Amino acid sequence: MTTDILALESGYDTPALHAEGLFIGGRWESGTGILVDNPSTGETLAEVADASVDDALRAVDAAAAAATEWRSTPARQRAEILRRWFELMSEHAEELARLISLENGKALPDARGEVAYAAEFFRWYAEEAVRIAGEFRHTPSGAHRILVDHEPIGIALLITPWNFPAAMATRKIGPALAAGCTVILKPAAETPLTAFALARLGAEAGVPPGVVNVLSTSRPADITNAILADPRVRKLSFTGSTAVGRRLLAEAAKRVISCSMELGGNAPFIVFDDADLDNALDGAMIAKMRNAGEACTAANRFYVQSGIHDEFVAGLTQRMGELKVGPGIETGVQVGPMITSAAVQKIDGLVQRAVAQGARIHTGGQSLPGAGNFYLPTVMDNVPLDAEIAKAEIFGPVACVYRFESEQDAIAAANDTEYGLAAYVYSEDLARAMRVSKQLESGMVAINRGLMSDPAAPFGGVKQSGIGREGGVTGILEFLEPKYYALSL
Ligand code: NAD
Repeated sequence: MTTDILALESGYDTPALHAEGLFIGGRWESGTGILVDNPSTGETLAEVADASVDDALRAVDAAAAAATEWRSTPARQRAEILRRWFELMSEHAEELARLISLENGKALPDARGEVAYAAEFFRWYAEEAVRIAGEFRHTPSGAHRILVDHEPIGIALLITPWNFPAAMATRKIGPALAAGCTVILKPAAETPLTAFALARLGAEAGVPPGVVNVLSTSRPADITNAILADPRVRKLSFTGSTAVGRRLLAEAAKRVISCSMELGGNAPFIVFDDADLDNALDGAMIAKMRNAGEACTAANRFYVQSGIHDEFVAGLTQRMGELKVGPGIETGVQVGPMITSAAVQKIDGLVQRAVAQGARIHTGGQSLPGAGNFYLPTVMDNVPLDAEIAKAEIFGPVACVYRFESEQDAIAAANDTEYGLAAYVYSEDLARAMRVSKQLESGMVAINRGLMSDPAAPFGGVKQSGIGREGGVTGILEFLEPKYYALSL
């Protein structure tokens, strides 16, 4: 079955973006079994294939068959293909954004932002592909030489979440292909259409058959366990929740597979009395509301110093209350639906239990009746520091504000979590901002900014937010294995 999603839904003629089914060895295989719903309406957009274990092993065969040629393809040629893929994504940016908005629900401006961000990983790694460096040293004794080469690590399994269906895929495919690896991409079952659209553009860009394979499945554990059990597979790169990450790490341990893990977050957003209030509010809106709060870097806990607390809450309440909520694809909408009705229930449960513990709602605090998984932008203060909502990843449009007095109190509260992905600090005193940032247990800190994601920067977390980094100059190292030659010279 060929389904032109965009022609169906939005009158777009998008021959490059047809979704058919599994993509194995450069061939499309149609199938049924997974219904892809529009979270804005509850309507089904498409039905796509549901990969079996046999399909998964055929994808490993295809990746293995393509591996030798791809790793020996000149880096310049791999770079040109990635560069072309970037250009094709840019040419089809609006169609891709509409597709993302339809299957994920996010507001079109967010979807456009994602496409631009996602495409940049192909451009960045096109540039990095030709700069894979080695090393040459003398042994300290002076008797011998050390030569270090970087080889592609081998076949990689890439598992991505639904919240950034394009960017989480390109952030892995870009460095993997630049390094010379072949891959099997398993997108989230909620958002496979974007992955298929990317694969089509990749084939058009000249990615050889078998270098990128895509499997949609409703049984992720069965499929990924089978792939990880295959001795030809050497790499797992996962983005998703910490809970699933732990399970995958245990599975990968059976064959001691190299793992890169981008997991959950619980970002603190710290505002000192001396912060520029407007700038802090602008940043708060981006850090909280990009993707309607469904982001691993989303500000989850706002710690605001006493002297500025009430003004901050009033400003945030006003801005959150003015946001336009609705179907992501509609013009003017700023906040789309949550991915599922279960996500709405989870968020509302956290909010209501916080209220029962004394939290005060300033705006929002409820879902919208009718079709679509909508939750109103919400601001709460007076939230107890030990409330469940302070520990959990909210993953929705809910801002909880906590009052603090001293710098050390803010740091202690910010670090009181198993997560360590992102943090935000607002202060006009740069020395203070740096002093505090250094003490935050976090892989990334944004200072007087509400957004840190950048293809040129190392993205990743500490503690239970992950292992390894994506993007930047280090992202490609996750797909390379150093090989040391001990020279007798
Ligand atoms: P999830 O962990 O439920 O799913 C992620 C992926 O894993 C999906 O493809 C899913 O099908 C697959 N999966 C689920 N169970 C599996 C299993 N038992 N075995 C193998 N694969 C399995 O996460 P989600 O709900 O799709 O995404 C939201 C989570 O992702 C949040 O926790 C968010 O913080 C995190 N995230 C992290 C980053 C980052 O860079 N650190 C970026 C985006 C999202």
